[in-house]
Amino acid sequence: MFVSENLSVNDKNRLVIGKNDTIELAEKFGTPLYVMDEDLIRKNCRTYKNAMDKYYDGKGLVLYANKAFCSLYTCRIAKEEGLGIDVVSGGELYTAIKADFPMDKVCFHGNNKTYDELELAVKNNVGHIIVDNVYELDTLNDIAGKYQKIMKIMFRIKPGIDAHTHSFVQTGQIDSKFGVALENGEAFDIIEKASKLENVKVTGLHCHIGSQIFDIEPFCKAAEVMMGLIGEVKNKIGIEIEELNLGGGYGIMYTEKDDPIEYDKYIEKISVIVKSEAQKHNVKLPFIYMEPGRSIVASAGITLYTVGGVKDIKNVRKYISVDGGMGDNPRYILYQSEYSAVVANKANAEPCEKVTVAGKCCESGDILLKDAMMPKIEVGDTLAVLATGAYNYSMASNYNRIPRPAVVAVSNGEAKIVIKRETYEDLIKNDII
Ligand SMILES: *Cc1c(COP(=O)(O)O)cnc(C)c1O
Repeated sequence: MFVSENLSVNDKNRLVIGKNDTIELAEKFGTPLYVMDEDLIRKNCRTYKNAMDKYYDGKGLVLYANKAFCSLYTCRIAKEEGLGIDVVSGGELYTAIKADFPMDKVCFHGNNKTYDELELAVKNNVGHIIVDNVYELDTLNDIAGKYQKIMKIMFRIKPGIDAHTHSFVQTGQIDSKFGVALENGEAFDIIEKASKLENVKVTGLHCHIGSQIFDIEPFCKAAEVMMGLIGEVKNKIGIEIEELNLGGGYGIMYTEKDDPIEYDKYIEKISVIVKSEAQKHNVKLPFIYMEPGRSIVASAGITLYTVGGVKDIKNVRKYISVDGGMGDNPRYILYQSEYSAVVANKANAEPCEKVTVAGKCCESGDILLKDAMMPKIEVGDTLAVLATGAYNYSMASNYNRIPRPAVVAVSNGEAKIVIKRETYEDLIKNDII
């Protein structure tokens, strides 16, 4: 009945996550509150990992794309589940270092890594740097030389796939700030250049075609294009590419309109294609990487809010105001993303009216749900917005100087704080004068 499989309703008619009554969680830890179901995160990690073992004989590694929810906690779970991770900034890399993440299983992405970020990666022996452009290639080679190391690199390629998704999260076409293009020969030039440098070793190629994609087809197409490229690189420049990183972007269910594909199906299909394309192009079977972010953590998370105001503007709209909003979930204001919600203290109540759930920030666009069919909502109710585990905490801000909520992890009736709620003191700690 809910968009996330891990939610249920108890005999008090309250929403339950990880065998925890959400109203008790709200009372104990306060609202707004991010709640993460650890068992579901682990289950999702295992689904991907097992599929890699089953369909690709384990000759691949699933990387958790940290940017979906980066913290010591999520790094540790990924580590315990045997996944690698991808990081996209010095801050994410620092978090992984502090979580004692095995550095050989880290891929470092980003279209404009700074000198300091690259140096941090070189010093810490990050497994792969996904090089975006020729300036970065030169800088990395210099830094690696300074530390007398040879860094393994992959190149971010634009395979030119239109993944039919929201234009803000489409990254595979030529008009993109990420990576090098195939059409104009850029990709060959940079690979050839790198092959002559002393302190980098080209091991792989990478692509990431977008996000929240429900179709397997664009991923298959991308795998085909990339395998073709590996063949051409072998023929034209005599370099055998050993690794292929196919990125992430697998869609999840935010509302009933979404129709996600079971996660292991992606690896099943892609494995078949990579194997047949390797034969076709007469190249070695590459070690493959996949980088799911959203699909590992999104459905595991919910956000609990307290309803503080109900404003019924007759014949216009009914607004329900909650004690959070764009500060803890900026996805509506950024992408008009849709969510579903449950009144957690009357979880089985039938939807009966159309309402718009608004946040408390000074922006009219600070909305969590627009025109959603909900049961009757009253002041003091606890609202649970579902599938907020990805790109909520990680995109949160202190706009209006609102402290970021705490994150509580639940599992089998237990609940523990994994990230503290910010205090007002935290908000001013870097203000000097
Ligand atoms: C964002 C990103 C991912 C993860 O995307 P999801 O949609 O969260 O699965 C993986 N790889 C790269 C390079 C990314 O930028």
